[in-house]
Amino acid sequence: QSYLDRIKQYDGDINSFITVTEELALKQAKAADALRTAGNANAMTGIPVAHKDLFCTEGVKTSCGSKMLDNFIAPYESTVTGKFKDAGAVMLGKTNMDEFAMGSSNENSHYGPVKNPWDKSAIPGGSSGGSAAAVSALLAAGATGTDTGGSIRQPASHCGITGLKPTYGRVSRYGMVAYASSLDQAGPMTRSAEDAAIMLNTMAGFDTRDSTCLNHEVPDYTASLNDSLEGLTIGLPKEYFTAGLDSEVEQQIRNAITEYEKLGAKVKEVSLPNAELCIPAYYVIAPAEASSNLSRFDGVRFGYRCEDPKDLMDLYIRSRSEGFGEEVKRRIIVGTYALSAGYYDAYYRKAQQIRRLIRDDFLNAFKECDVIMGPNAPTSAFDIGSMSNDPVAMYLSDIYTLSVNLAGLPGLSVPAGMANNRPVGLQIIGQHFDEARLLNIGHRFQ
Ligand code: GLN
Repeated sequence: QSYLDRIKQYDGDINSFITVTEELALKQAKAADALRTAGNANAMTGIPVAHKDLFCTEGVKTSCGSKMLDNFIAPYESTVTGKFKDAGAVMLGKTNMDEFAMGSSNENSHYGPVKNPWDKSAIPGGSSGGSAAAVSALLAAGATGTDTGGSIRQPASHCGITGLKPTYGRVSRYGMVAYASSLDQAGPMTRSAEDAAIMLNTMAGFDTRDSTCLNHEVPDYTASLNDSLEGLTIGLPKEYFTAGLDSEVEQQIRNAITEYEKLGAKVKEVSLPNAELCIPAYYVIAPAEASSNLSRFDGVRFGYRCEDPKDLMDLYIRSRSEGFGEEVKRRIIVGTYALSAGYYDAYYRKAQQIRRLIRDDFLNAFKECDVIMGPNAPTSAFDIGSMSNDPVAMYLSDIYTLSVNLAGLPGLSVPAGMANNRPVGLQIIGQHFDEARLLNIGHRFQ
């Protein structure tokens, strides 16, 4: 009730929720009380969480931030939200996001932009901007997000919270509205690394309904939170600390790394020579996969349908033209072009080859260090409206996050102070399945 009251009081302005499931939340809270009384509670029982509005939630609207799905009531439950339900967590509602998770500022939502609770003239980051803002403003104890190219880490960084993008395949994608299937991964957004560990304990694990979900042992992520950092080797990629990085952001990142040295870690310069190629590679691969995934929204099977279509072609064309926003259409066009006969080899295949080089760069760097640290974004949160007319500038701001998705690695953002009066997070990148170590490192800092 206390969280619902806060949502009523503050969210009219922040706009972090698309749907608030008040009745359901109170019902689930009562059920959680009963579980506790019966001694059947776990760490998530009764914890009020919010879910990004791209997880299908049975009987509850799942809009993906789009007019296309504004009327879509999911007929089934995603694996992730189902696991929270089974653990007795309380769902407060569904959070705002960039349409179909395409964006870095949450300005591409059909439901309007989300404001950054630290400074309401700033973006919260995207695409999981609603989840980040809700957790930051104490409108939820924790939230789920998804990260295809930074959408958990970057908004966590901009809103001063903790966000973990797990290894690709660690968490099931079943029931998540697909954006770029070879990159999409769900993770926790919380106030601390400890909370993220508790949420990941619930989220992680094998699922036969997602063919890319890996059957790999799930440790208790809370067990190693207090392990010593003595002897840890931190790699600093020289390509990350260059002219494009805001000097105040750089200062906060370097201060954070100094704190780790005090805790016994060693720092070493490493190189990721193909780092800057992550932008062209990602912005071919992600739109290509999106153009294919989004073909299902045809006005027949899902969501929005135009008024009075005169024939089938008119139905397809008008439903898609009216249902999708500008950025989604831009990506569908780019992706369709990159996949078309005659261009496939020049763009899509080339991008996949670059993807392999980027992955190999990380694997080589990890021969010299245990984890890699750096910024999540070149600047702290920018002003709402300041970049919305320049999609390429927005794409360029994803420089530090995209390569982690292309390589399938886990990445954690933890709060690391303020730059230009807005929060900034430190990004910690790990080796495949090294989430426990990332959370241990994040926890020791907080
Ligand atoms: N900014 C990236 C994009 O627009 C990230 C999206 C994401 O991680 N969902 O594609």
